[in-house]
Amino acid sequence: MFTIENLSKVYSSQHGTVRALDNVSFAVERGSFVAVTGGSGSGKTTLLLTLGGLIRPTAGTVAFSSRTVYTMSEPELADYRNRKVGFVLQTFNLIPYLTALENVMLPMLFNRDRNGTSQSLAAELLERVGLQDRTTHLPRELSVGQQQRVAIARALANSPDVILADEPTGNLDPNLSLEVLRILKDLNETEGRTVIMVTHSPEAAHFGDRQLRLKDGRIEE
Ligand code: ADP
Ligand code: MG
Repeated sequence: MFTIENLSKVYSSQHGTVRALDNVSFAVERGSFVAVTGGSGSGKTTLLLTLGGLIRPTAGTVAFSSRTVYTMSEPELADYRNRKVGFVLQTFNLIPYLTALENVMLPMLFNRDRNGTSQSLAAELLERVGLQDRTTHLPRELSVGQQQRVAIARALANSPDVILADEPTGNLDPNLSLEVLRILKDLNETEGRTVIMVTHSPEAAHFGDRQLRLKDGRIEE
C-alpha cells in the first residue's frame, strides 16, 4: 500500500536545521497494523504527516498504491488527504460548537461525490464506535474517551483505506486507552483497514502486528 524510499525531512528555522527524518525506507502492506514507536523528537509525527500528504519531504518518495504522493497536482493531493487517509490525533481536534454528529459529517462536506447521505452515514459511524446515544452532544459534554471515539468516527467519514493515528491514546487513562486501541484493532481486523499508529507506549504498540522503531529520524531494527 505504502512504499517509502529514502525519505528525509529537514526543518529549517532561525534556530538552525533539524534532520527529523534521515533516509527512511520501508513498506506497509495493505491490511496491516503498524505501530511506530520511538522517543520524543525521534520523527514519528513528521513521518505520519509525510505519509498523509501534509508535509512535503526534503528528499525521497512516498508512494501510495503505486502513485507517488508528492508529484500529484494540488487537487489530487487534496483528494488524497481527504479520501484515502483518515487522521486521528492526540488532541482530538473536534470543533467545540458542533455536535458529535456534525463533527463526523464535517469531512464529508469537502467530498464532492457525497449526496444527501452524510447525516445517516455519520450516525452509523458514531454507532460503530458505540456513541449512538451521544450524537447531539457537544465535545465538552463528552468524556475524553468519548471525544477520541468521535475523532475516530470522523477519521472514517470518507471511508479511508488507511487510518493514520498520532498518539491516539496519549491523553487517555489506561482503561480508555484500551477502549480506543480495541476500536482501532477491530477496524483493522474486521474491515481490513490499514492502520499506522504512532505511540510511545509499549503496551499500545503491542496492538500492532508489526513495530517500526524510530531513533533520531532513522529506523532502528
Ligand atoms: P516525535 O513526534 O517523535 O516527537 P517530531 O516528528 O515531532 O517527533 O519531531 C522530530 C524533530 O523535528 C524534533 O527535533 C522536532 O523538534 C523537530 N521539528 C518538528 N516539527 C518542526 C517544525 N515545524 N520546525 C522545526 N523543527 C521541527
Ligand atoms: Mg509526535
